[in-house]
Amino acid sequence: MESIFAATCEMPHFEPLREDTTADVLVIGGGITGILTAALLKRAGADVLLVEAERLCSGQTGNTTAKITVEHGFIYADLLKRYGKEKAKGFWEANMAALEKYRFLAGKIDCDFKTCDFYAYAEKDHKALGEEVAALSRIGVPSRFVKTPELPFPTVGAICVHGQAQFHPLRFLAALARDLRIHENTPIRALFEGGAQTTDGQTIRASNIVVATHFPFLRFRGGYPLKMYQSRSYVLALEGARLPEHMYADGCGKGVSLRSCGEYLLLGGAGHRTGVEGGGFDRLTELAGMYYPDSRVAYRFAAQDCMTLDGMPYIGRYTKRTQSLFVATGFGKWGMTSAMVSAMLLRDLILERPNPYAELFAPARPLAPGPFVCNVGSVLMHYVRPTAPRCPHLGCALRWNEQERSWDCPCHGSRFSETGELLDDPATKDLQSAKVRKKQ
Ligand SMILES: Cc1cc2nc3c(=O)[nH]c(=O)nc-3n(C[C@H](O)[C@H](O)[C@H](O)COP(=O)(O)OP(=O)(O)OC[C@H]3O[C@@H](n4cnc5c(N)ncnc54)[C@H](O)[C@@H]3O)c2cc1C
Repeated sequence: MESIFAATCEMPHFEPLREDTTADVLVIGGGITGILTAALLKRAGADVLLVEAERLCSGQTGNTTAKITVEHGFIYADLLKRYGKEKAKGFWEANMAALEKYRFLAGKIDCDFKTCDFYAYAEKDHKALGEEVAALSRIGVPSRFVKTPELPFPTVGAICVHGQAQFHPLRFLAALARDLRIHENTPIRALFEGGAQTTDGQTIRASNIVVATHFPFLRFRGGYPLKMYQSRSYVLALEGARLPEHMYADGCGKGVSLRSCGEYLLLGGAGHRTGVEGGGFDRLTELAGMYYPDSRVAYRFAAQDCMTLDGMPYIGRYTKRTQSLFVATGFGKWGMTSAMVSAMLLRDLILERPNPYAELFAPARPLAPGPFVCNVGSVLMHYVRPTAPRCPHLGCALRWNEQERSWDCPCHGSRFSETGELLDDPATKDLQSAKVRKKQ
């Protein structure tokens, strides 16, 4: 299950923290969000410490597909309806700034950074495609409509955004991490005013703390379990498939995504809410057989991401009342530009510099009641299901995932192996193995 990126990059190693320490800024989590945030803060002169529970990029970042684009599916039509032209344009500008920052940083790093176009296609949904074309033109995003994109299945057209990029995320992050003060195998167990405590009992004192743990690990503060869920997706690296020149993804988020990676084609998709049946490797393998019958699967891997209720990440102060505790989460499977937007915004908030997008991404922004009630309803439904085992995060009923042989939580996305070891956050501990030895 090792991803093509993990298999082709040796990440640098860092010792665990063994004694109490201090820093201006403590960044918790060594995925793309944590590493970029620490790197930009350090370049701005801050004294930063990054701690990672396991190894750097051992979370979702190691299993991404690393398409860097400002077109996060057909998002602008939705943002325009929900928040109006100014905010929809702000979202585009913030992501453009992130793309340009990558271009600048990657210029000095050997990470297969390649400028290419991004196509958001629609398989059947004329209406969604038409609305997105209209929204992009209203906001002033440079893009063009393409009637027949080069794909091995029929579509009703695509939107082409010129000058986006793809890269090897781990080679890029390994280069940035080498210059940082980092401790791996150092999980944070609790936060207190002005610091944090590790699982092994060391204290880290810091004036500012950034929670970059993917799903925020504090269980109740900020209400994240009510306003976010996780969605899982699968990736095959195919050998012998025709390689696309550019990058592609279904604008409606239901079909497959494509990009090249060296001699391989990365085919992603078959996604579903974590803990709910549907999709998976079987479905993606079936699609690979239909679209690329002469190819062979060289790597297969999966990951999941946090989905917010309005499609925009939560980046900023952890709650309205926390002045020096920050968070970046909810990237909706578009974490490359979102992580860079987070790093730039959190750097500015911590260093008390102005940033035009602070309000736009604020985690405490008001959310529409419809999606909120729907998500809470879905959490409650899974909570009251009278089956064991229960998730140690908030007690929801876990579901058995036969394809990946894991216990998955449909409420917030924690996952556990067949014998109960923690695989994915937000839970922070294993299941009691006696209860899960057998599929129930
Ligand atoms: C299949 C798939 C394909 C994708 N493809 C794309 C794409 O093409 N383009 C794009 O823009 N986005 C893509 N994404 C999204 C992107 O991969 C994610 O948004 C991004 O990797 C999330 O990074 P992160 O740093 O927030 O989380 P992670 O990489 O999960 O990092 C969080 C880290 O925090 C650590 N941690 C957790 N708790 C603690 C603790 N208590 N103490 C210390 N450390 C802790 C974890 O061990 C982990 O290493 C994709 C997502 C999926 C699922």
